[in-house]
Amino acid sequence: MTDMPPLSNLAAIDAAHHLHPFSDMKQLNAKGARVIQRAEGVHIYDSTGRKYLDAFAGLWCVNVGYGRKSIADAAYKQMQELPYYNTFFGTTTEPAALLAQKIASHTGENLKRVFFTNSGSEATDTWFRMARVYWKALGKPEKTLVIARKNAYHGSTVAGASLGGMKLMHEQGNLPIEGIHHINQPYWYAEGGDLSPAEFGLKVARELEAKIDELGEERVAAFVAEPIQGAGGVIIPPETYWPEIARICKARNILLVADEVICGFGRLGHWFGHQYYGFEPDLAPIAKGLSSGYLPIGGVLVSDRVADVMVEELGDFYHGFTYSGHPVCAAAALENIRIIEEEGLVERVRDDIGPYFAAAWKSLEDHAVVGEAESVGLIGGLQLAADKSTRRRYAKPDDIGSLVRNHCLENGLILRATGDRMLASPALTISRSEVDEVIEKLRAALDHLRDSVSG
Ligand SMILES: *Cc1c(COP(=O)(O)O)cnc(C)c1O
Repeated sequence: MTDMPPLSNLAAIDAAHHLHPFSDMKQLNAKGARVIQRAEGVHIYDSTGRKYLDAFAGLWCVNVGYGRKSIADAAYKQMQELPYYNTFFGTTTEPAALLAQKIASHTGENLKRVFFTNSGSEATDTWFRMARVYWKALGKPEKTLVIARKNAYHGSTVAGASLGGMKLMHEQGNLPIEGIHHINQPYWYAEGGDLSPAEFGLKVARELEAKIDELGEERVAAFVAEPIQGAGGVIIPPETYWPEIARICKARNILLVADEVICGFGRLGHWFGHQYYGFEPDLAPIAKGLSSGYLPIGGVLVSDRVADVMVEELGDFYHGFTYSGHPVCAAAALENIRIIEEEGLVERVRDDIGPYFAAAWKSLEDHAVVGEAESVGLIGGLQLAADKSTRRRYAKPDDIGSLVRNHCLENGLILRATGDRMLASPALTISRSEVDEVIEKLRAALDHLRDSVSG
């Protein structure tokens, strides 16, 4: 320990040598990165000893909360016994096989196989290739196009950023790659106009049908969407949306891909987001809550429809990662899921803390600058509005969101802002009094916005 640099130097060392993801490095280096040192429950502590309530579970991922010694123990034990072996050419490991079985015990009856990756982005690249390989194996090699949504997030690899609908990401690296098309998102507040949410949900779902017709059904391989759009601002679709999407995918014979990277593992009060919405995907990337972020691991849930073709028709799938099914990550994920089961966290979100959070979050709608505050389970999106009676938004959405987020941060609360939406995604273990604290601090930040900015 004595060789460690003093903590006050860490920000300087970091500025000199560490390039961060999704960061303006010039700004960050001038300010110095906040050094996060330890964490327990829903709280994180920085190097100055300041304590924050992390209402974002790291990056939507620490579902079981921080400080779980049993996950550390499981990883330690596995690392001593077998720190690494691959799952490539005819071998497997106990944690990888048992984790696949464990995940399958929480999926529908047609979603029983898993392909492991190290991240959600790799999971995206994996299903993207699988979908094309599937149709080719069925004698339809021209079925290659994928339809995704504007403002979606599916990761940062080339396929992930291409499938995502983030304009700023597309501008960096000449994306999207060929063969990807985007339709509108079910964001009623901003784009619903005079339609009711139910009407709007149907309208945007039917854009999928129109796009398939435009491209030709025989050329479209798949449609992908997050059950609830996360990074795009926690966009919760109207109830009419998913049933119509599922109907269209079935009628037009294209694969339905549910990106479960955020919604999976209890966040919506069900094991998976598609279960909450009552549809069955053909492929479903997972990551984040799979290990609660304790170690990196992701995967793709593969339906019998696709898996049977891959197993029976394809031969080799020339795809995989050195660390696919990494035994230590798999052991940590197994223990994470054991905790979720043992503590009944999915049911807790569905029946107890989820409804409590929903009522508390919704109560913010009485605030002058809040257009809408919606949630499902433990994911919430709050729309800031300059004039709630007309759904008029602030002129500079990014500045407004940052203002609220920074006020929260100064008061020891971590929330995220996407444009003029405030996002919450706390650990599934958050207590009622901690939820109260989130609401109280957010309300103070909303007061600050109301008092300091005129629409
Ligand atoms: C985070 C995220 C990803 C990417 O996962 P990484 O592990 O960061 O690569 C993909 N899809 C969704 C919906 C996500 O939120």
